[in-house]
Amino acid sequence: MVSLQCGDLLIEGESGSAVATYIRVKELDLIFDLGRCPMSFIGTEHVFISHFHLDHYFGLPIYISQRWLAGIPPGKIYVPKAGVEQLRSILDRISILDCGVVWDYQVTPVLSGDRIPFRQNLAAHVLPGYHRVPSVGYLICETREKLKPEFHGLPGKEIAELRRSGTKVTVQVELPLIAYLGDTQRVDPDAHPLLRQCKVLICECTFLTPEHRKRAERSMHLHLDDMPALLAAFESEHIVLTHFSRRYTPDVIRERINSVLSPDDRSHVQLFI
Ligand SMILES: [Zn+2]
Ligand SMILES: [Zn+2]
Repeated sequence: MVSLQCGDLLIEGESGSAVATYIRVKELDLIFDLGRCPMSFIGTEHVFISHFHLDHYFGLPIYISQRWLAGIPPGKIYVPKAGVEQLRSILDRISILDCGVVWDYQVTPVLSGDRIPFRQNLAAHVLPGYHRVPSVGYLICETREKLKPEFHGLPGKEIAELRRSGTKVTVQVELPLIAYLGDTQRVDPDAHPLLRQCKVLICECTFLTPEHRKRAERSMHLHLDDMPALLAAFESEHIVLTHFSRRYTPDVIRERINSVLSPDDRSHVQLFI
């Protein structure tokens, strides 16, 4: 299992094109995609699925059944709206085949533009994806209450008094922590006003060599040649590249990345291999 430290967040999992992608951020109690489900992921409560290619969601039956067997309440699974009924039907059939009853599970359909509050102080914004099947990405923000500017400089006593009298003295602000883009042919950095500033960006980079440029277009994936423009559009401290094609060995991946990215870009980039 790969494990990368990105500031305060530990990014764990695996990702290989057509094999399996599953990425956990334990500090945020969430998983991005679940192409397979290691036992260590069972206790994580929130699962955000980007699209219904097998390598991105086929760990769900294990995740659901293992929680069910252990008596853990159902996790909260978010999936693209197109396909949710087929998914439920598949899960129900696998469940009946497995144990004769339907597991208890919770699947919530999402659309680009949705905002999903979770835990006490987090929210997921659903981003558009551009792939061969309906696809989304997710931007996770921390929410905080901040004193409204008109009350700055007031003594604490007066602020407390205003609060008691029912005046709303704070406004909610969001800090963009991490974005996961799923499989996608292109990235719109303006898909959400906070996306460019996310501290960690997890981005696929399936194809790396000049002869695979056309293949990237056909299969609607990103190519290493897309990265310099993409990196210029983001202010992220950490860019994690994932989902490399099986055609490339780790040495080839490092060699290609080092030869195409500038040293400055390269210093922000970590490889999920
Ligand atoms: Zn994929
Ligand atoms: Zn895909």
